[in-house]
Amino acid sequence: YAAKLRNDGAVVYDSSIDKASEQSLSLLTELRNAIERNEFRLFVQPKIHFDTGEVVGAEALVRWVHPERGNVFPDQFIPFAEQTGFIRKLTRWVLEQSAALCQDLEAAGLHVKVSVNLSTRDLMDQDLPTKFRELLERRRLSASSFCLEITESAIMDDPVRAEQTLARLHAMGVELSIDDFGTGYSSLAYLKRLPVNELKIDKSFVLNMESDAGDVMIVRSTIQLGHNLGLRVVAEGVESEAVWHQLKSMNCDQGQGYYMSRPIPADQLLLWMQQWRAPEPVSLPAPAAAS
Ligand code: C2E
Ligand code: MG
Ligand code: MG
Ligand code: MG
Repeated sequence: YAAKLRNDGAVVYDSSIDKASEQSLSLLTELRNAIERNEFRLFVQPKIHFDTGEVVGAEALVRWVHPERGNVFPDQFIPFAEQTGFIRKLTRWVLEQSAALCQDLEAAGLHVKVSVNLSTRDLMDQDLPTKFRELLERRRLSASSFCLEITESAIMDDPVRAEQTLARLHAMGVELSIDDFGTGYSSLAYLKRLPVNELKIDKSFVLNMESDAGDVMIVRSTIQLGHNLGLRVVAEGVESEAVWHQLKSMNCDQGQGYYMSRPIPADQLLLWMQQWRAPEPVSLPAPAAAS
């Protein structure tokens, strides 16, 4: 397949295609080996309730510690894992590791919901709900210990099948979240129909809330839309205390971001929770005393 058909019908050899397919073949081999070689790491990022300042959840984010390339971030291999179907294996690995984390948290008496990202391929995987149920039984966990995050685009790829998978998962008691809300092609009709519990505002709208009035308007409207639909609203990409207070004053339910914590290795979450202190409420200047 290094051959390319020219406009005039002639077949030419294209070495760049050869190189690219060679590279992707070796990446796929490396990904397959990475599970056995124990190169994936489960990182988590805490989700904080604005009103109480408590850690109510944690999002599972996978990292690949490559022997030569070092830390490889998900953006560099998740899209490829989706194209090749490897993502199904990876999702099972993430679910397994997340279940282990849930067990540790439960043992410590902490109720922290673990959020796991699903991709389009996972939604097309008819076995996923059954495999998930088996996992819960084996680990003696309640489905309500988990939240599954799906992007609008993953749903809109095949809305009918996505809806079937999501309905089966939801019937088991697992919570569902719409991730990166506002960035994909979405249909409000589907949002209304799907059994979702949470709406996650994409970080691109949150990062610059301090200086961008347009972003503030989008975030405020999205919070209202979510609440009107009966959903919990979470903001990702909270990078400063100022944005924390802005979101809190807009009645956003939960926040996640570098200001509170970057993603950390899963085994450090308990320690992080012990050290976490929510920012003090901002005290408004006292009104001038009437004379
Ligand atoms: P996502 O699900 O939207 O995850 C949130 C991303 O935003 C994470 O990037 C997180 O580190 C980053 N983030 C959180 N707070 C801040 C902040 O305050 N500032 C900035 N600049 N970034 C922040 P990460 O870990 O690199 O993951 C990127 C994407 O890769 C995820 O986006 C998700 O779509 C995908 N991904 C990660 N792990 C998995 C996985 O296990 N399975 C699947 N299917 N996808 C995954
Ligand atoms: Mg996510
Ligand atoms: Mg997101
Ligand atoms: Mg994202």
